Amino acid sequence: QERLKGFGKAAEFSARRVHVIGAGVMGGDIAAWCALRGMTVTLQDQSLERMGPALQRANKLFTRRLRDPLKARAAFDRLIPDVNGDGVAHADVVIEAIFENVEAKHALFKALEPRLKPGAVLATNTSSLKLEDLRTVLQQPERLVGIHFFNPVAMMPLVEVVQAEGADPDAVQAACAFVRQIDKLPLPVKSAPGFLVNAVLAPYMLAAMRAVDEGISPETVDEAMLAFGMPMGPIELVDTVGLDIALAAGQQLAGGAAAPRCLLARVEKNQLGKKSGQGFYAWA
Ligand code: NAD
Repeated sequence: QERLKGFGKAAEFSARRVHVIGAGVMGGDIAAWCALRGMTVTLQDQSLERMGPALQRANKLFTRRLRDPLKARAAFDRLIPDVNGDGVAHADVVIEAIFENVEAKHALFKALEPRLKPGAVLATNTSSLKLEDLRTVLQQPERLVGIHFFNPVAMMPLVEVVQAEGADPDAVQAACAFVRQIDKLPLPVKSAPGFLVNAVLAPYMLAAMRAVDEGISPETVDEAMLAFGMPMGPIELVDTVGLDIALAAGQQLAGGAAAPRCLLARVEKNQLGKKSGQGFYAWA
């Protein structure tokens, strides 16, 4: 228990400083959201240039949500680019959001762990890798939790808090407290493929694409589900998530079933959805 010094008071856990590693689609937006909600955030990536787009998106978010230019400026000042990762040593919560690759995450965790504050939450935003595999390099493997945000971070209230087998319950509780602190809704889930939300969503999106394979137009599928009451059609959702990501998630969660032809054909042509300007629909 000495090794977990600092935990044991999860009910009182309150974060002030957050360190995010990886300033891509997710890490950049997670860092911005935490700064918007009053945290001091250090954001780490391989170079300052890589952080440019994330900082631009953050600036837009602060301007749009805070309206008052002084408040927006203050939020921007709370978001600190940190190429060397010096923020790790002071952070109450460290969130890893680098490439979805086990070796890369292992190398990062090895370097990170000795720099962590006692009692700091160590979290991964992974969508598909098993926490049990990611934490093998840690001296305190029970410390790693999943804090799984959804894209786009600013719009999605739900955050899955992933508890691997044998995880320290205090670390999980502290992660839930942090998620509430940044005004999101924590959903504790077990470490299983797709966690909860993607395990339910993936078959739904795959079924929609199979309907397209059978000759029903994407518009018809989407209009049907919109009329049913969904906030967005499943095919537009695939365009939003990214067709490459939907393909990878489908392969992992479809139990070996073949990928829809309409999805494969578009991925081969590099039509990856909103991010590439063309997916099932054209996005100017
Ligand atoms: P991304 O490719 O957009 O960004 C990854 C960033 O990490 C890049 O900017 C890269 O330069 C940086 N990076 C890589 N290795 C690094 C290292 N060692 N040190 C510092 N920076 C490093 O990826 P993404 O889509 O933001 O995904 C990140 C994580 O979030 C993945 O684990 C993914 O599974 C998860 N996730 C993604 C989504 C999504 O919709 N894209 C949703 C939920 C969770």
